[in-house]
Amino acid sequence: MSPSGAEVIRQIKERVSEIDPAEVREGLGNGVVLVDVREGEEYERERIPSAVHVPRGYLESRIEGEVRDRDAHVVLYCASGSRSALAADTLQQLLGYSNVESMTGGITLWKDRGYETEVPKTLTKEQRDRYSRHLLLPEVGVEGQQKLLDAKVLLLGAGGLGSPAALYLAAAGVGTLGIVDDDEVDLSNLQRQVIHTTDRIGVPKVDSAEETLNAINPDVDVVKHPVRLDASNVIELIEPYDIVVDGLDNFPTRYLLNDASVRLRKPVVSASILGFDGQLSVFQPYEGPCYRCLYPVPPPAELAPSCGANGVLGVLPGTMGLLQATEVVKLVLDQGEPLVGRLLLYEALGATFTELKVRRDPECPICSRDPESITDEEMGVFPDYEAFCAAAG
Ligand SMILES: [Zn+2]
Repeated sequence: MSPSGAEVIRQIKERVSEIDPAEVREGLGNGVVLVDVREGEEYERERIPSAVHVPRGYLESRIEGEVRDRDAHVVLYCASGSRSALAADTLQQLLGYSNVESMTGGITLWKDRGYETEVPKTLTKEQRDRYSRHLLLPEVGVEGQQKLLDAKVLLLGAGGLGSPAALYLAAAGVGTLGIVDDDEVDLSNLQRQVIHTTDRIGVPKVDSAEETLNAINPDVDVVKHPVRLDASNVIELIEPYDIVVDGLDNFPTRYLLNDASVRLRKPVVSASILGFDGQLSVFQPYEGPCYRCLYPVPPPAELAPSCGANGVLGVLPGTMGLLQATEVVKLVLDQGEPLVGRLLLYEALGATFTELKVRRDPECPICSRDPESITDEEMGVFPDYEAFCAAAG
């Protein structure tokens, strides 16, 4: 009668040398070659740092690629110590490795002892499908997609600019999208604020945006901030994020955002729209100019959209918001030339793009100084806004 499987394993374990995890740990860095013989899925989930991966099913064909020296001190591990014992036996008996051991208790005992493991960052099968067109681009790939998934982007406003930006950033897999907006969806928004829908009129914009974004991509964590950005909360709001997308509609808040973002060294991807015209730039503190370098004094009040309701072509914020999203993705991936020190002007009726160089102002009241020296009182200093708007007539 043939022996049972358990009996075979017992016999093999008897002739294979076993080594305690504590000894393995000491041996790492001292010539021990650690080989993980588990399946790919197990290895991808969690592994011992520095281990090479040769699944038991590929042992004979792949071990020489990882361990050339047949006299090297090779330690194999699996989940609990059985598969590694079988693999060790194969290496000794069939492949002529002279110094092979199997780690007692596998990675389970290793972890019970509190020894270090690493959880490699990989994409799930669903993520590989979802982002397959990104993975085909060498500039993105798995590493870039992982950067996007780890990125935290704050959108100021779920309005005309924030809507298209949020839709595409969510689709691209930006893992955390914060949205600051204290408004509710209004019928007059729907001509351009494409993240909202007719049946959500009266619903807080952050809730409406969350619903749309979750439906597009469940990978995205939407963080809702149903507040108005002001001097009391600006630092706290932007601090946890890597990049700020500015879709603000008024100059005083833009100055406030600028001063806080310079102080915290956060890049701001800024756009503005009026009528048929859009503007775009990336304010990267201390690498390029800041908003105050560009506008040391507020632009003429008649150009200030928040002084009253102004007309805007509905598709225009779509164009500008997507240019913002593009700049965000480039910053996260660290690819291409971000729009730092450059102001891009888009004129929809003439279909023209114009680029202006913007330099840092050595006299800039904010970014010419040490970030630590910018005080709360100095942030967002701006002329009286009502007077400013009244002057516009
Ligand atoms: Zn400046």
